Amino acid sequence: MVGGRGGPGVPVVELCGAAKSYPGGVHALRGVDLTVRRGELVAIVGPSGSGKSTVLNVIGTLDKPTTGTVRVAGYDVGELSDAQLSALRARHIGFVFQHFHLASGRDAVDNVADGLLYAGVPLKARRARARTALERVRLGHRLSHRPHELSGGEKQRVAIARALVGDPALLLADEPTGALDTASGEIVMELVRELNAVGTTICVITHDNEIADSLPRRVRFRDGEVVADSGTPAAPSAHPAPAPARNPEEVRP
Ligand code: ADP
Repeated sequence: MVGGRGGPGVPVVELCGAAKSYPGGVHALRGVDLTVRRGELVAIVGPSGSGKSTVLNVIGTLDKPTTGTVRVAGYDVGELSDAQLSALRARHIGFVFQHFHLASGRDAVDNVADGLLYAGVPLKARRARARTALERVRLGHRLSHRPHELSGGEKQRVAIARALVGDPALLLADEPTGALDTASGEIVMELVRELNAVGTTICVITHDNEIADSLPRRVRFRDGEVVADSGTPAAPSAHPAPAPARNPEEVRP
């Protein structure tokens, strides 16, 4: 198996002096140092414009820092080609967004199967794994439903199934409950906790103080900097994991 997952407590994300600037003197990130270890569940909090989405995009390799280094799943992101970055994302990272980002014309199974599009999995196997992932988020009764036939909470559960269908080491969620009512948000957060309990490392941006306070670690941003980090209360739980890959060449598209 290809992977830089490592054992329990091994860093999955390492940002070192990560800065991101835009023309006109906008500093979205100002030298962020942040390590997230295997098995952690981290809330990223802070006011609007403080750099939360930027840091999540940098961690997810969707965005490159202007300066600083980023290691994800053991790989120095700055040393990987675009094809290797795509492979890294496909094999190791799942994304969940506030507004679901589902394809409107496709049913739940196809939306989730799309999560394996770049992982080299044949169509039939993609659909079979999609059904399993949908059952895992308790949507086994909504397989053929299209997004407009689903509630907001169900749409987000489809999006979570899409994110987890590739069995990522790292799940990144940008305000996953931001567009949901409280009850649906609680169900989504329960799922997030369940995924973490079976070993997925998770970073979740939230504006909701109650949600943030319920999570084991909170990292607070302000003006592009980490201004508080509650740290991890206890050693991350142990989960069996494959040995880490050492050679970036092993990350194939
Ligand atoms: P948050 O997620 O905490 O609301 P962001 O990471 O989206 O904050 O943004 C941090 C800062 O960077 C803000 O001042 C924002 O306006 C700026 N910013 C983000 N993306 C861009 C961009 N593409 N071009 C210029 N400025 C940007």
